[in-house]
Amino acid sequence: MKKKIVIIFCILFLLIFSFFFFYFNKDEDLSYEDKFVNEGYSSDEANLILDKVSKNDYDLILEIGYDKSLINILNSNEFDENKFDDYIKYYMKNKDSNINDIITIINSGYDLTNYPASSLLASLVKEKYYINENVSRYLDYGNSVDIDTKKIIAMVNSNADLGFYSNSYDSNLNDGNLILVNKFYHLKEDYTPSDLVSLSGNYNKGTNNKMRNEAALAFMEMVDAAKLDNIILYNMSAFRSYDYQVNLYDRYIKRDGKEVADKYSARPGYSEHQSGLCSDLNNISDSFEGTDEAIWLKNNAYKYGFILRFPKGKEDITGYKYEPWHYRYVGVSAAKIIYEDNITLEEYYAYYVEKK
Ligand SMILES: [Zn+2]
Repeated sequence: MKKKIVIIFCILFLLIFSFFFFYFNKDEDLSYEDKFVNEGYSSDEANLILDKVSKNDYDLILEIGYDKSLINILNSNEFDENKFDDYIKYYMKNKDSNINDIITIINSGYDLTNYPASSLLASLVKEKYYINENVSRYLDYGNSVDIDTKKIIAMVNSNADLGFYSNSYDSNLNDGNLILVNKFYHLKEDYTPSDLVSLSGNYNKGTNNKMRNEAALAFMEMVDAAKLDNIILYNMSAFRSYDYQVNLYDRYIKRDGKEVADKYSARPGYSEHQSGLCSDLNNISDSFEGTDEAIWLKNNAYKYGFILRFPKGKEDITGYKYEPWHYRYVGVSAAKIIYEDNITLEEYYAYYVEKK
């Protein structure tokens, strides 16, 4: 009798043990493929996951459960295996957004996790001159005006979204040939470059004939090169002191009023002419546009380190109307980029000089 009880007890124990053993190990026996299928993925989708996602992330997918968007992420041409975690995290926050936008934003490598995914943000990060610090301003500005992404970036990088003369910073004298003087950056009243030299002879026909040494040498080289193409160039107005600009600006205000004067003349301290790095050539009037000299300058000045400083179509970035006669020395390498990328000094400065 006692023996029987022991045997029954043993059988019972084995049964209970087997039940628990199989119950708890049931899941372990399933392959991940089966587990994904159990969540609702098709067998093809499950294999896609196995193929494209690293093992460490399988459980993350099981946690999320079936979500067609995960498959769309994996199917994207831009999919990067190493960024899977980031896609998922960002996707969970931005479920209503376009998957491709999410992927573009994450692939940019910028820290944008706190910004909602949008097609505007996705197109901004693809731009060459995108600066991540400015992202809030790009989005604010881009959502308030109907302009293309490139222009949004140009406007914000140049501070033009803030309004001209709305903020005032000292120009950085350590920037050398790239010093920025515009409707935000200004020179002090007593600033005069220490290395001004005079342009004379065929190089000059104006009273303000001084330029900084390096710029003057480049200017003469440019004039000589133009002459070989039968183009005669000369300076009309180069360095102008703060006091000179005071008189000039006051005269313009009396004639046209402040609002109009601000469109073509700089306020004292805000004139690039005080930098000694620019020259008004030949004919300081709109009639200079389209002349052989103006066309030659537009196409060739950059080879000598000069840029057309206030181009047509960039008035809202520079704050000045088109001035076909005003050329600014920045050095050859900067001039080449500005010319080839069709940007302004403001945009160049924000991206290549100021960006940390
Ligand atoms: Zn000028």
